[in-house]
Amino acid sequence: MIDVDVLIVGGGIIGCSAARELSKFNLNVVLMEKETDICSGQSKANTAIIHGGYDAKPGTLKARYNVRGNRMFGRLCKELDVPLRWNTSLVLAFSEKDVPQLEALRQQGIRNGVTGLSIIGRDEINRREPHVSKKTVAALLSKQSGILSPFKFTIANAENAAENGVVFHRNAEVFGIKREESKWIVKSTIGTFRAKAVLNCAGVYTDTFNNQVSAVRYEILPRRGQYYLLDKKYAKQFHASIFQLPTHMGKGTVISPTVDGTVLVGPTAEDIMNRDDTRTTVEGLKKVFSSGKKIWEELPLQDAIKSFAGVRAHCNQNDFILGEAPDAPFFFNALGVESPGLTAAPAIALDLARQVSERLHATCKMDFQPFHHSIPTFEGMREKQKRRICTEHPGDEVIVCQCEGVTRWEIREAIRRPVGARTIDGIKRRVRAGMGSCQARLCAIQINEILEEELTSTFAHTALKFK
Ligand SMILES: Cc1cc2nc3c(=O)[nH]c(=O)nc-3n(C[C@H](O)[C@H](O)[C@H](O)COP(=O)(O)OP(=O)(O)OC[C@H]3O[C@@H](n4cnc5c(N)ncnc54)[C@H](O)[C@@H]3O)c2cc1C
Repeated sequence: MIDVDVLIVGGGIIGCSAARELSKFNLNVVLMEKETDICSGQSKANTAIIHGGYDAKPGTLKARYNVRGNRMFGRLCKELDVPLRWNTSLVLAFSEKDVPQLEALRQQGIRNGVTGLSIIGRDEINRREPHVSKKTVAALLSKQSGILSPFKFTIANAENAAENGVVFHRNAEVFGIKREESKWIVKSTIGTFRAKAVLNCAGVYTDTFNNQVSAVRYEILPRRGQYYLLDKKYAKQFHASIFQLPTHMGKGTVISPTVDGTVLVGPTAEDIMNRDDTRTTVEGLKKVFSSGKKIWEELPLQDAIKSFAGVRAHCNQNDFILGEAPDAPFFFNALGVESPGLTAAPAIALDLARQVSERLHATCKMDFQPFHHSIPTFEGMREKQKRRICTEHPGDEVIVCQCEGVTRWEIREAIRRPVGARTIDGIKRRVRAGMGSCQARLCAIQINEILEEELTSTFAHTALKFK
């Protein structure tokens, strides 16, 4: 039995952000992730938009945390060295009869405390976004909307949390939580833990853990969203993230640039039975295409480099369920965190960490280190640094991923980091090797070889240490 102060279940954006916030306190914190890597659930498959906050119903936790989270990204991305672009967003109206709905959304945003909202006409739309359908008559412009890489943001939070003392376990599935002698006994595939407090950040499985410990029950109704990802040659096609009017199923199909230069088209909103069903389907992708064409009439499907899907943790209460369960002391939920959960994550993490630290009477860590350095691109390094790498590790300057220009050195660095990559997907999310137009068809073998080399020496080193 391993004793810890706080055990976090789930290494998505909520779990990793909460881990970083908790690492500001003198607490022994452990995060358990069932997959081989963190950022494997909703946090890896979404539209990557920092929402303005006009879409959520006033008075809901979604609205409150969206607006608060949005305002935290500027500072956080500087501390964590994660690229962020305030690219604005537009919601389009295709006929005069839809314009009052834009105004209703604007008013809703104002009630939520959102600033920088205005309705713009055809000429202004054309000036800002010349590739948007000519059938558009007006749009709601939100200046406070942005884009970032959800992988880089989640991983940077995790790495910084680890640098500040949080222990991350991957391939560590939690399967049972119960209260015994005022502690939580947490059973997992890597052993049993005894925790003073538990943070339930298990995404689409948050209801399972809540319902094990509390009589106040919830149900997650998984809702899938499918996407196309378009090649970087369209990087300059759109500046803003472009929406259609929302429906009761969500914000509808979006066309959004990514910070890395690709373009996202999607998602669908389909209620499904299986929470792990991230398959794409012919019908789903047809819907994405036909709906995307309303925004971008020449939508070039032939340049799609990938299709993928994510599953939203839609809660039967239709809102986030946050904080300590009323009848399960020291058990904290981040349940039903669907969109705008990425935007809300920093504010949710801050509040959860505050609540946990107060309940445990934890003191602040005086030597908390907020600054984190992302892996620099070899290309962007100073000549002196490049020469040092070439001398110390000859061959590491060689480009492995031709599409994205990623060197052996960057791939090694992604593996060597505190919560380092263990799979090709993990490398992709950290340094983009394999994310380009060939989707790792040309570099997968080489990446695997580097993984094998690095991990063999890491495990040999760990084995020696424990001898
Ligand atoms: C299609 C789609 C589009 C979206 N678009 C946006 C957007 O543009 N902007 C925005 O703000 N939000 C968006 N969201 C919402 C956002 O992605 C989520 O709210 C956010 O990622 C939730 O993070 P999380 O950490 O709660 O969940 P997750 O990322 O799902 O993380 C939960 C983790 O828990 C792990 N886990 C589960 N069970 C166990 C267990 N038994 N033991 C150990 N670990 C376990 C999982 O493997 C997973 O890694 C979108 C979501 C989807 C699906």
